[in-house]
Amino acid sequence: MTTLPPPEPRSFLEEVQAATPGDSRLLMCIQCGTCGGSCPSAKDMDHSPRHIFALIRAEMREEVFTSNTPWYCVSCYYCMARCPQDVHITDIMYTLKNMSIDSEFEEAKNGSDLAHAFAHNVDTYGRSFEFGLATRHYLRHQTSTLLKKAQMGIGMLMKGRLELTPDKIEGMDQLKTILKKAKELEAER
Ligand code: SF4
Ligand code: SF4
Repeated sequence: MTTLPPPEPRSFLEEVQAATPGDSRLLMCIQCGTCGGSCPSAKDMDHSPRHIFALIRAEMREEVFTSNTPWYCVSCYYCMARCPQDVHITDIMYTLKNMSIDSEFEEAKNGSDLAHAFAHNVDTYGRSFEFGLATRHYLRHQTSTLLKKAQMGIGMLMKGRLELTPDKIEGMDQLKTILKKAKELEAER
């Protein structure tokens, strides 16, 4: 009886492609940079989407999984609308969030920590509480930029664009019912 050789380990690029629903077209990226130039969150990302795709090709897993880039993606799809190669950039960002949560890198939990804190706010108040969310995030994960962000926060407080305390929405009971159902459906997937 012949023994089959073990399967070739998949490249990082192949892993990301396999984990993305449909055809991500990641291989088609020509590194033109249009996506980063279009992205409203690019200034806060530590790598542009173009750079993230280059890091994936270079097998640089830790740099990708510990990057804040997927977590700053707000799913506006503007990059996808402008990409000349029809790369499914937003879908890949979702894939990278999921993969980083399951990765071996502790620092990769920083981004998901922000997402969990946001979900907790919505569960509790029915909406985001930006002041609490931002203070918590910058104190925990980005103390080097805290001072700069604090100045911006004070400006927003003075102009009444930020609330110091959280405020619950009306109809919280209905929202809780919707969220409960959504979680049940998610668990069935
Ligand atoms: S716009 Fe498309 S082809 Fe250009 S760098 Fe971004 S993903 Fe690659
Ligand atoms: S979908 Fe994400 S990566 Fe693309 S432009 Fe919007 S925020 Fe940037």
